[in-house]
Amino acid sequence: MEQSENSAPMPTPLVVALDGPAASGKGTLARLISDQYTFAHLDTGTLYRGVAWLVLDAGGDPADNDAAAAAARGYAIEKIAGADIRTGEVGAAASVVAANGEVRAALLEFQRRFASHPPQRVGGAVLDGRDIGTVVCPDATVKFFVTASAKVRAHRRWLELAAGRPDLTEADVYRDLLERDERDAARDNAPMTAADDAELLDTTHLSIDAAFAAARRVIDGVFRRCG
Ligand code: C5P
Repeated sequence: MEQSENSAPMPTPLVVALDGPAASGKGTLARLISDQYTFAHLDTGTLYRGVAWLVLDAGGDPADNDAAAAAARGYAIEKIAGADIRTGEVGAAASVVAANGEVRAALLEFQRRFASHPPQRVGGAVLDGRDIGTVVCPDATVKFFVTASAKVRAHRRWLELAAGRPDLTEADVYRDLLERDERDAARDNAPMTAADDAELLDTTHLSIDAAFAAARRVIDGVFRRCG
């Protein structure tokens, strides 16, 4: 993956890692946390979605390992400008390219560099994904594994997607979500799993405000201990 250089020294940034399945609330929490602490935010799912979109756009098959690896090695944000990467189709293709070890390797350095050198030299970074606490940033300052029941997650995702897709049923979304969870959790390369030292946050019965308040209590406690 292409990236710009910024090698001037800066204090070690604080890193908040959020992992968990689709529609668990981790993305919204990551945005709120980055606003609260003025940290840079990287939604790492967009990288895998971007690679998947590039393969699909070129008429390729996401399961074609060489095509996906080449797209990941040449990936740059400008290449997906204006692309609709938030669709269910791109999400499903993303979880296929994400099982490819060469794709993951090509995207790893960019994610680590974002965490160690956050843009605008802010004091910290929030990364959300599936393997942040386990592989990308195993030394993150605070780690969360955010979950919710599959039914609740499917309902949330259906509400997001249904506006543009009136034909889409909640049952379709539920089925696709279970399929994606299974693929993400069962793959050999960096499977979706909670780090041993991650704080579990189940948002099934929590409003976003309540989930954010719970996350802040944990983060503030850890930051206080870090000085
Ligand atoms: O989070 P989002 O739904 O946008 O992620 C799309 C897909 O990208 C996930 O289903 C997963 O397969 C992959 N992914 C990953 N590792 C990450 C982030 C996303 O494998 N750190």
